[in-house]
Amino acid sequence: MPIVALFVAQTSRLQIPALSAVTRAPILRLLLSSCALAVGCFAQVGSAQQNTIEIDDSVRRGFDAVLNDPRVVSALAELKVREPEAIQEQFRLTEIPAPPFKEDRRAAYFLEQLKARGLEDAYLDAEGNAIGVRKGSGDGPLLLIAAHLDTVFPEGVDTTVQLRDGRYYAPGIGDDTRGLAAMLSVIDILNDSGIQTEADIMFAGNVGEEGRGDLRGIKAIFRDHPSIDGFISRGPHHQWRHR
Ligand SMILES: [Zn+2]
Repeated sequence: MPIVALFVAQTSRLQIPALSAVTRAPILRLLLSSCALAVGCFAQVGSAQQNTIEIDDSVRRGFDAVLNDPRVVSALAELKVREPEAIQEQFRLTEIPAPPFKEDRRAAYFLEQLKARGLEDAYLDAEGNAIGVRKGSGDGPLLLIAAHLDTVFPEGVDTTVQLRDGRYYAPGIGDDTRGLAAMLSVIDILNDSGIQTEADIMFAGNVGEEGRGDLRGIKAIFRDHPSIDGFISRGPHHQWRHR
């Protein structure tokens, strides 16, 4: 069931009416790798803009059922309560520089966080992606949720988070560090809410999204895991304000 999509939407503070990334429908094989593409796609769901993606009624009903499930309602509320923790995690991630082709330190930290949340088999793949799978109840689809580790800022740039006039600033604090922190929140809330997903969920911090990285991380994941049924690419918060 598409529970996780709702969480992901919630953690980006975007109300997405229906998003169907967990079913087996071919349309959901969203091979959208860059955050820009994914954001454009997801953010226009249900809107009146051009390129609106039509959501099948059966998928919409599935979403409504999940959204109204009391366990989901309470888990989403708990996410809001825990937002300060997620922000602190975002700061920790931000302050580990991850220039293009030099994401290894941040990848190692993200891997640790996956393992600490019960994904003991999490690993770094040959490309440098940090990947952990949260098992479903069995026989379900395989859903990939990813956010990219790399930032556009070169080596040597100070990524210390600074508070000025009530706002936090740092190179790369949004794109896509927010997505990484949101993913960890999703794992936490799944673990603590007792919600069992049908899908196996593959959480990935992927390398090489920006510029010359040419999506090398996400390409490697799809090359290595052809059985992926659905993909949610987590973009940074500011890019999701399309509604
Ligand atoms: Zn990005």
